[in-house]
Amino acid sequence: MTAETRLLLVGAGHAHLHLLRQADQLRRAGYVVTLVAPPWFDYSGAAAGVAVGARDPAVGRIDVARLAQGGVEHRPTRVTRLDADTRAATCADGEQISWDVVSLNIGSVAATPPGLSVHPDVVRVKPLDDLHRLREHVATHHGGAGLRVSVVGAGPSGIELAAQLALVPHVARVTVLESGASLGAFLPTGAASRLARLLDHRGVVVRCGVDLVEVGASRAVLRDGTEIVHDVAVLATGLAPPPLATAAPWGGPGGLPVEATLQHRDHADVYAAGDCVDFLPGRLARIGVHGVRQGPVLLEALLARSAGGPAPVYTPPSTSLSILDLGGGTALAVRGGRWWFGRASLLLKRAIDRRWLARYRS
Ligand SMILES: Cc1cc2nc3c(=O)[nH]c(=O)nc-3n(C[C@H](O)[C@H](O)[C@H](O)COP(=O)(O)OP(=O)(O)OC[C@H]3O[C@@H](n4cnc5c(N)ncnc54)[C@H](O)[C@@H]3O)c2cc1C
Repeated sequence: MTAETRLLLVGAGHAHLHLLRQADQLRRAGYVVTLVAPPWFDYSGAAAGVAVGARDPAVGRIDVARLAQGGVEHRPTRVTRLDADTRAATCADGEQISWDVVSLNIGSVAATPPGLSVHPDVVRVKPLDDLHRLREHVATHHGGAGLRVSVVGAGPSGIELAAQLALVPHVARVTVLESGASLGAFLPTGAASRLARLLDHRGVVVRCGVDLVEVGASRAVLRDGTEIVHDVAVLATGLAPPPLATAAPWGGPGGLPVEATLQHRDHADVYAAGDCVDFLPGRLARIGVHGVRQGPVLLEALLARSAGGPAPVYTPPSTSLSILDLGGGTALAVRGGRWWFGRASLLLKRAIDRRWLARYRS
């Protein structure tokens, strides 16, 4: 390694936030760090509440520009292209940035199921900038009949959104359209039943086993021709790697293929973490916990690289706690086969979220 190594960080996801906080260690190890990322980071743990207008966007926001002031050159834009031959990134504003080592932590996008036609006006749960359009719909809809929303997909984010939308006074109808045979197949059976009762109690219409062919701006269409009319639809059909992580030169269909060291399978100078990776030792769910836990591994990997030491490896936890914020002061916490429903689960979620966010705000 030369005395100075140009390290380019693309995206300020969970793992890179950790690097920004430890930037002095990287500098001491000989890295000159440049970050290309929007000036703030929005925390998905607060995203549903923010999207339905129940919570202030500031509750989940981290000031990336401020965090980068600890010795990182920050470009508040996005990378649109990576060139492996010239080792240069092209940014949305046209600037080219060269690197010796590059790391990507750029999150995910809402997955579009094959064969489903989705209108551009449909709100996608990810990136979160797009989900924020739902907040505008909710805030600006003053029609007499109330807002009708179709939520396509009953995974964790679709359920959080449907449950919380149902509590908004001028939302007249929430319809959940799920292709699977039952609601909450990813949950323990008792938790799925409890959730179904809550949604029913709040008047949410849940339609499972639907075969959708189109999600339009004003209606969803099933293969048998049935139409569900709405004012806005939300696509919550799972998370997929963003185009930059699936495109040449380094991407694959599942994202950037990385080894347990978070190093690209074929390019030792390329690292990646979080939702944008295809973790080769075993498929990982696209949940924030991996990005959070990969942060320290990525830092150690970069330090070991400059010191000539062995690379650390990321070992995913065997289970993790996930907590769905269902609005109305209640949440569903799940760990493995165990679950807890009620206010205490929400208080726990809030405490975990606050502690994590505080790290990057002080
Ligand atoms: C509604 C909703 C609720 C969720 N709730 C939870 C939850 O409670 N717990 C949980 O564990 N997971 C939750 N998830 C999943 C969670 O959002 C992701 O797993 C997590 O955010 C992935 O983290 P990451 O660090 O990979 O990327 P992200 O947190 O998505 O961060 C990536 C960052 O990179 C930036 N970026 C993207 N492209 C570029 C580019 N080309 N150039 C520069 N910067 C770029 C983005 O602006 C973003 O700030 C939720 C998801 C949704 C949609």
